[in-house]
Amino acid sequence: MGIFAEGFKTSPYWWEAAPRPALPEAPLPSAADVAIVGSGFTGLSAALDLARAGRSVLVLDASDAGHGASSRNGGMLGSGLKLGYGDLKATHGQAKAVALVREGIAAYDYATDLIEREQITCHLQKVGMFVGAHRPSHYEEMARGLDLVKREAGLDGEMVPASATATEVATRIYHGGRIIPKNAGVHPALYHQGLLDRARGAGVTVAPRSPVTDIARGLDGFTVTTPRGRVRARDVIVASNGYTGPVTQDFRRRLIPIGSYMIATEPLPPETMRRLFPNNRMIADTKKVLYYYRPSPDRTRVLFGGRAAVWETDTKVSGRTLHRYLTGVFPDLADVKITHSWTGNVAFTFDRLPHAGVRDGIHFAMGYNGSGVAMATYLGHKTAQRILGKPEGRTAFDDLEFPAPAWYSGTPWFLPLVAAWYRLQDRIAA
Ligand SMILES: Cc1cc2nc3c(=O)[nH]c(=O)nc-3n(C[C@H](O)[C@H](O)[C@H](O)COP(=O)(O)OP(=O)(O)OC[C@H]3O[C@@H](n4cnc5c(N)ncnc54)[C@H](O)[C@@H]3O)c2cc1C
Repeated sequence: MGIFAEGFKTSPYWWEAAPRPALPEAPLPSAADVAIVGSGFTGLSAALDLARAGRSVLVLDASDAGHGASSRNGGMLGSGLKLGYGDLKATHGQAKAVALVREGIAAYDYATDLIEREQITCHLQKVGMFVGAHRPSHYEEMARGLDLVKREAGLDGEMVPASATATEVATRIYHGGRIIPKNAGVHPALYHQGLLDRARGAGVTVAPRSPVTDIARGLDGFTVTTPRGRVRARDVIVASNGYTGPVTQDFRRRLIPIGSYMIATEPLPPETMRRLFPNNRMIADTKKVLYYYRPSPDRTRVLFGGRAAVWETDTKVSGRTLHRYLTGVFPDLADVKITHSWTGNVAFTFDRLPHAGVRDGIHFAMGYNGSGVAMATYLGHKTAQRILGKPEGRTAFDDLEFPAPAWYSGTPWFLPLVAAWYRLQDRIAA
């Protein structure tokens, strides 16, 4: 049986409700207080704050506004960092680890407050996340980790034993799991559209199809070059995350771009959706190469994501792979077709932490390690506060070194090896 529904698309499901915005292609201004490279959550969140503080702001994107990960992701707005508290503590010591964990919580609080305050209609649902244990040992590790992070950093959570897994998600593949209450579902493209509208309403100029080809530092600021003209700017923010290119090579060599893939199923009966996701939660797991999935905001479809390929691949091919993964989780969906299959880039870092700060006078926030819906919004805001000279611009990330191994220039040739090693570990580890 074919798995592709009639009218199958290789664009994000989210773009049905929020197509890429048709923005006017007016001539670029010759000068702005701040020029921002990238129109995702990072860039727009910074732009909104700066414009409201009276700065003239130009956001440049190589493609349509929000073409990057911000309109393509799973819409899981979380409070966690990629590294667990135990790992953070081992590497950075207890005080720093607590501060970093609290930044994750602050990011969640900031992004959810922003959506509510700005009345952005994007189906914000504070439903929490369930993280399924791929092995019994993962359950034990998660339980120990939760106990520690609760005690030392005040992070909330709850363990769900194997026998009760079905109360969270109707699959037999997990050995229990953990509930993270501070995790919410959003419609990411509507959230992006809302941020874009608020930023433009505050006076921000957003210029689509304006790739930045050079950033040159002068005595009193920067000259930013695009094929559509040059702009002088006192400050520049690089907010290009998984799409960072050679123009900003100093950032590119600190980031590992990785494709993440998603599919949407055709609409399913309401009783099936209620059975699969009894609490409507966001779902992820403890595998090295993890699955993440959720009900669509209207609770009619399953949206399922994972690393279906190492290099960029045809999204029909990745759609087949993800459909296979999906039916591994929910065998009774084997006959269900998919309506959309798409991909986007995330950016990993060598220390698996996000980074924000200033390098050679250029402000930046990036490296969200696949969890940037909340963190990109938050670090965009922090970057703006820093430019405005406000103490609120400080973060626990400020004094972290942003690693750049000497042997790496920005092309992650090692990914197939790492992916193969991770998949092997997922298969054999106890
Ligand atoms: C399939 C997928 C699923 C995901 N799921 C989740 C999830 O459920 N939860 C979560 O928290 N995170 C998730 N993420 C990650 C999250 O989407 C990102 O971390 C976040 O959107 C990053 O936002 P950003 O604004 O920094 O970058 P992006 O939104 O990627 O924007 C970067 C922009 O920079 C532009 N750009 C690059 N170079 C230039 C240049 N030279 N000139 C002009 N413009 C340029 C690009 O065109 C792009 O539009 C997912 C990502 C993907 C791809």
